Amino acid sequence: TTEARIEDERTSSVLLLAAGVAHELGNPLNSLTIHLQLIERRLKKLKAAKDTDALADSIRVCQEEVVRLDGIITNFLDAIRPRPPDLAETRLEEVLAEVLQFHQRELENRDIAVEAELTTALPAVMADRNQVKQVFFNIIKNAMEAMQPGGVLRIKTRTDDEGVYLIFGDTGSGIRQGDLVKLFQPYHTTKAGGNGLGLMVVQRIMRDHGGQIGIESTEGVGTTVTLQFPRKDRRVRMLK
Ligand code: ADP
Ligand code: MG
Repeated sequence: TTEARIEDERTSSVLLLAAGVAHELGNPLNSLTIHLQLIERRLKKLKAAKDTDALADSIRVCQEEVVRLDGIITNFLDAIRPRPPDLAETRLEEVLAEVLQFHQRELENRDIAVEAELTTALPAVMADRNQVKQVFFNIIKNAMEAMQPGGVLRIKTRTDDEGVYLIFGDTGSGIRQGDLVKLFQPYHTTKAGGNGLGLMVVQRIMRDHGGQIGIESTEGVGTTVTLQFPRKDRRVRMLK
């Protein structure tokens, strides 16, 4: 039956995710083990040497690895526990402003300018505020990570009969033609510290909202991510 097949697909995708997580956890755990050993050894020598720099370095590495582990686990849980969105009337421009505010320090540190055309009020949509936040968060993070200092993130909005659109354009590295089809696959990443779950989560959330995501990119020029949220009056009934 169809139901059994869907259940089957779910089981195998969870197994795939679990295998990936087990693999992903290996590197930070190794790094933590090594650096905790180093800390122990350095601590013993500390009285004699009076040099705490190396010790502080190792502690910093451990802290970074813990953050990385936390990110992997959080994304994993989000991925395997798809919650139906808790829909409420939502102003997307408000949520976007919150997420931009959250990223502000990092945008400044990376010398990335944000040009957001958010002056016209968008029609409210039915959405799960927290899930939408996560969508914006992941997309803006990817854009930041793709850009060099001096880069520009342009955010535009558009409305038509079908939906409300948010368009994120960056002047980053762009995406290799051959990689475009892999973007939503779990664990596809081209980054040293990446986990390759961000866009998968984004796609799932957009789908759960009856919306869509599209990504266009030119290598060496930049990437444009378009999100479509269905208009409140056009919303299809959600399947639970
Ligand atoms: P992660 O960011 O952990 O690598 P994602 O699922 O968020 O995982 O993204 C997967 C991959 O898609 C990235 O590693 C990167 O190669 C590519 N990508 C996503 N967004 C962008 C972007 N704005 N510019 C360039 N490449 C991108
Ligand atoms: Mg990402």
